[in-house]
Amino acid sequence: MSTTIAGVKDPLSRREFLGAAVAAGAGAALPAPSSQAKDPPGPASSFGPGSSSGPTDKAPAVHVPARSVPVLTECDVLVCGAGPAGVTAAIAAARHKLNVVLVERWCFAGGMGTAAMVNIWHTSDRQKRVIFGIIGEVIDRGVKAGLCKQYAHFPKQHETHEYQVEGLKFILDQMLAEAGVRTYFSLPAGHVLVEGDAIQAVLCETKTGAKAIRAKMFIDATGDGDVAARAGVPFDFGRHSDGKVQGMTLMYRLTDIDPRNASKIDQAAIVKLMEQERDAGRLPPFGALSLGYYVTGGHPNMNPAAGNPLDEADLTRCLMQTRRQMYAYVDFWRKHAPGFENAKVVASGACLGVRESRRFRCLKRLTAEDVLNTRKHDDAVGHGFWMIDIHDPKGSGYTTWLEGKYLPAGKSYHIPYGMMVPEKVSNLLIAGRCASSTHEAHASVRLMSHCGVMGQGAGTAAALALESGKTPAAVDMPALRRTLQADGVYIRDE
Ligand SMILES: Cc1cc2nc3c(=O)[nH]c(=O)nc-3n(C[C@H](O)[C@H](O)[C@H](O)COP(=O)(O)OP(=O)(O)OC[C@H]3O[C@@H](n4cnc5c(N)ncnc54)[C@H](O)[C@@H]3O)c2cc1C
Repeated sequence: MSTTIAGVKDPLSRREFLGAAVAAGAGAALPAPSSQAKDPPGPASSFGPGSSSGPTDKAPAVHVPARSVPVLTECDVLVCGAGPAGVTAAIAAARHKLNVVLVERWCFAGGMGTAAMVNIWHTSDRQKRVIFGIIGEVIDRGVKAGLCKQYAHFPKQHETHEYQVEGLKFILDQMLAEAGVRTYFSLPAGHVLVEGDAIQAVLCETKTGAKAIRAKMFIDATGDGDVAARAGVPFDFGRHSDGKVQGMTLMYRLTDIDPRNASKIDQAAIVKLMEQERDAGRLPPFGALSLGYYVTGGHPNMNPAAGNPLDEADLTRCLMQTRRQMYAYVDFWRKHAPGFENAKVVASGACLGVRESRRFRCLKRLTAEDVLNTRKHDDAVGHGFWMIDIHDPKGSGYTTWLEGKYLPAGKSYHIPYGMMVPEKVSNLLIAGRCASSTHEAHASVRLMSHCGVMGQGAGTAAALALESGKTPAAVDMPALRRTLQADGVYIRDE
């Protein structure tokens, strides 16, 4: 007979409503995060009228009767989401001998790196490499297998690798299996069962109904923070001025470009013509564009949309809009760009590229000052070096990256452990782009390599916590730093 968890009431509990409600305006009643937090939660607009991000007391509702749910499996640590943060968290915890389950809603790992075709990995600033550890291994293995190549321009520009999207899925499968992680693809984490201050289980929706996964420790690496939100951890959403999050992007790749003709392209002239057409309303907005990148099989990040990534109607609208835009650009190039006469779209992201959604309140909140002043922390789990790179929340395609306001060459900031530790749920860590930061600092620490640093820190901390019988908040910091260093993470202060 299968084990069941009785009394699960509904997939949208009151606790879940409360998490959204905090972001929607009740946030002022909360105690401020204990360290560094300067800016208040963003306004309610993103969850306000016209948005279906989360149910409100006024929304029509159905009652779901209490039911028993079979237990799929039990483990030491359940990691939800297999993006850069989740994969590194799961591998780190498993390498420290924990029984780890990883659930991912798509049918492959890599997060935005694969699903949204974001394939550019940065491991260092213009002078000094600071990203090693598991992310370093992912890149090294890709290079050895011929699935990832380094751009030649380092030093001087950021050290950059381009990973083949399919290749990344393959390498991550291997690394997860080798570490002994029990991975389940096509398994979205849903309802979260909380008792007292601890999560007991996460329910995943399967083809045969909901199934529960029980664990001692949970790591939310879903990017959007689905688990933490449902566990009632308060979060912020969007920028302070109007509650809007960074713009989203649909990436896509072209085929059938004639490279000999394409070498004749006058990039500046084409972009100028595109700008004129856009300003006349005959071409949609577009972001920074290098046509040459398409010629060599790459895919520039130039097809923007603005919306709320937690709102299924908005996401659908943005997907349809960006697919329309993609064909409008291609039609234009077929007429105006030499070599592109027969260009065809061969692939687009399996999902819209989402840069920002929930940012949870944790013991520490990373701020723009931390990033820009390359601040160091006693509880560092690694380094970040990326600039504040905000893609226009209104969807124009503009990004502050174009202003070139890099951190000083050779300088990096510490990524603090405290930004992953929520105050109120005692057995949860939040890693990756949903960890605690301001809108501005998030625009730096969201980099895939930085999310991977967080993931390795969270997975290792979970192992130390369980080994010592402590909560994540009480983990011995010097021991965590020593362990991470021994595992190859660059963590020194300089
Ligand atoms: C268009 C675009 C371009 C970018 N360019 C770059 C770049 O050049 N270089 C760079 O380093 N970064 C870039 N970024 C940022 C980077 O891709 C993300 O910030 C990073 O991938 C975040 O990592 P993560 O692991 O926190 O989350 P994600 O990569 O979002 O991964 C989260 C994972 O959780 C899964 N998930 C979500 N909900 C659930 C659920 N309920 N249950 C189970 N699984 C779930 C998702 O399917 C996904 O696999 C870009 C982002 C975008 C959108």
